[in-house]
Amino acid sequence: VTVGANWAGSYEYGASELLRPRSTEEVAAAVAGATRVRALGTRHSFNDLADTTGSLLTLVDLEPNAVIDTDAATVTVASGTRFAVLGVHLEAHGWALHNLGSLPHISIAGAVATGTHGSGVGNGNLSTAVSGLEIVTGRGDVVRVTRSDPRFDGMVVALGALGVVTRVTLDIQPTYQVRQDVYLDLPWDAVLGSFDAIVSAAYSVSLFTDWSGETLKQVWLKSRLPAPGSGAAALELPDEFFGARAAGDKVFSPAGDDIDNTTVQGGVPGPWSQRLPHFRPDATPSNGDEIQTEYFVDRADAVAAIAAVRALAAKITPHLLVTEFRTVAADALWLSPAYGRDSLAIHFTWFNEPDAVRALLPLIEAALAPFDPRPHWGKWFAMGASEVVPKYERFADFRALAEEFDPQGRFRNAYLERVLGLGQGTT
Ligand SMILES: Cc1cc2nc3c(=O)[nH]c(=O)nc-3n(C[C@H](O)[C@H](O)[C@H](O)COP(=O)(O)OP(=O)(O)OC[C@H]3O[C@@H](n4cnc5c(N)ncnc54)[C@H](O)[C@@H]3O)c2cc1C
Repeated sequence: VTVGANWAGSYEYGASELLRPRSTEEVAAAVAGATRVRALGTRHSFNDLADTTGSLLTLVDLEPNAVIDTDAATVTVASGTRFAVLGVHLEAHGWALHNLGSLPHISIAGAVATGTHGSGVGNGNLSTAVSGLEIVTGRGDVVRVTRSDPRFDGMVVALGALGVVTRVTLDIQPTYQVRQDVYLDLPWDAVLGSFDAIVSAAYSVSLFTDWSGETLKQVWLKSRLPAPGSGAAALELPDEFFGARAAGDKVFSPAGDDIDNTTVQGGVPGPWSQRLPHFRPDATPSNGDEIQTEYFVDRADAVAAIAAVRALAAKITPHLLVTEFRTVAADALWLSPAYGRDSLAIHFTWFNEPDAVRALLPLIEAALAPFDPRPHWGKWFAMGASEVVPKYERFADFRALAEEFDPQGRFRNAYLERVLGLGQGTT
């Protein structure tokens, strides 16, 4: 029996087996008994990051057992839990996370291991909410770490290289309401002329384009609403946004006008968990038959970086479902693509045309090279270790952590060797 494919069906895992431990102890036993082993989340990465030649462990059978600590304002939960499940639990108890990615279907562990992000100039990626981890290391022992540990910033976005995370502690805050409004046909001139004002116009802003024409197709504003009874005025949004027009209450999917898979738009207030993701948990997110790519550049270079990619529009558009621009606040996590710099994330959802995408990636990376682009770890990119490693000033410290936590290289795989130069050793 093979392990099967990733969510998009574009990558077939080569692992020899899929194990389903039911407790931290069973995870530890599985790791100790394996030569090569990796954790598998909900399979939403597009490349071979999660894969191994040995055993994959899925943690979906561990009960979420979410424990809210109201004094510390944290929740501790099984790492394989999907954000959609945690969101329902937090909302029911009057709590919230600071942000979510476009889809709530992904596992917490898989998201935080890769620096998965939503949008918002003031919002760090989802990994920045992590304040504690329980990890089964390559030695098979169970380690619990918190933010006070000097190694912690190297352990959150860790690409599965340090161990199998079994429980995660996340910062939470009192629940809040968000409204989501869509605008259509934002002039390119406005984006290039008023970029900072546009992306700062709401709690979370996403711009969607196929790079063609004189306008970007859609703008999504996710506005955080004042708490009821706070005395703050209700939020009024204009009919026009930097030359784009309000879409009204029609549901627009970035994946196509005829697809009904989005969270509620039209300015209807709702809980954070039902507005911050683009896609509803009960629907297929995005398109389903696709490949994704994303690069992070310094937000200070946003306009120049966008213009550099736009020069490739004629080559990109024929193979593209949609591009999304989002912002991510700088953080201190050693392998976070937003490490040390407020970032613009330039995302591409491609048609499932692997050869065409493989041919385009070096062109896009060359166009972005002056801006030192960092790739999303879970999506497609062309650059290898000689280009990637110098982008991360704490990489040597991360390598040392990987050797400390996994001295026998149980979690090493072809991706870590190709992308980070972490050898696979002799085991
Ligand atoms: C439709 C779609 C929309 C997306 N939208 C966004 C978005 O808005 N923003 C964004 O940044 N990304 C986005 N992504 C990418 C996605 O968030 C990342 O690829 C993420 O890593 C997927 O999580 P997963 O649970 O599927 O992990 P997997 O793909 O299964 O694994 C990813 C990595 O996490 C590691 N991992 C998983 N579980 C554990 C564990 N318990 N312990 C240690 N390591 C573990 C794996 O070993 C692997 O290295 C999207 C992907 C899809 C398919």
